[in-house]
Amino acid sequence: MKAIPNKVLVVTPHPDDAEIWCGGTIASWIKQGADVCYLLCTNGSRGTEDTDITPQELAEIREQEQLNAASVLGVRDVVMLHRNDGELEDTTDFRRDIVEQIRKVRPDVVLSTEPYRFDLSWHRDHRITGQVALDAVFPYARDHLHFGELWSEQGLEPHKTGTMLFWGTERPDTFIDITKVMDTKIKSVMSHNSQMSGRTEEEISDLLVSRAEEVGKINNNILSEAFRKVTFRT
Ligand SMILES: [Zn+2]
Repeated sequence: MKAIPNKVLVVTPHPDDAEIWCGGTIASWIKQGADVCYLLCTNGSRGTEDTDITPQELAEIREQEQLNAASVLGVRDVVMLHRNDGELEDTTDFRRDIVEQIRKVRPDVVLSTEPYRFDLSWHRDHRITGQVALDAVFPYARDHLHFGELWSEQGLEPHKTGTMLFWGTERPDTFIDITKVMDTKIKSVMSHNSQMSGRTEEEISDLLVSRAEEVGKINNNILSEAFRKVTFRT
């Protein structure tokens, strides 16, 4: 993997996951010339304790917040699948949707959620997104006869992605320095107003910085985000 990839696809389960887990990496790469696109899998329609809001209202708010957060980071495009929060399944349809975006964006690196955690709880949508994204990268996006209609009818050529980076992992082996973009990451997370649960900007900022410091303890005390890397033959 090159230090700064040319093209990046972020396959993210809910509005706010990408900013919280890899907003610094995204901001840093974009500043250095990378082209980054998002695929947002769900509409986040159930992420609230507010009993006065409907799932439809919440989805609308959260999808707009996701667009705002992505624009803070400089993400070029956000494609939304609008699936309901908590209802992701490992289906052929979901896999095809991810394969289609991989073949359109043609990324060097795909970022997504770690599907395999043993000692920590993990949202079902996170587990399934990571697993389906991994399968979509290899082998489904790579071989033209998988979802052959994308190739024969839409002209989407197969694509080999070189690297996947999983966030939220228990076994990090790849660390990205986010020191210079910490403020941008904080601003992008703050775009998710509905998810702040009454916390102030200062509290959110402290939380994100202390997380980056914690991760940095195994990276020369540099403010960092951590990933598990999977490399594919291209
Ligand atoms: Zn999530």
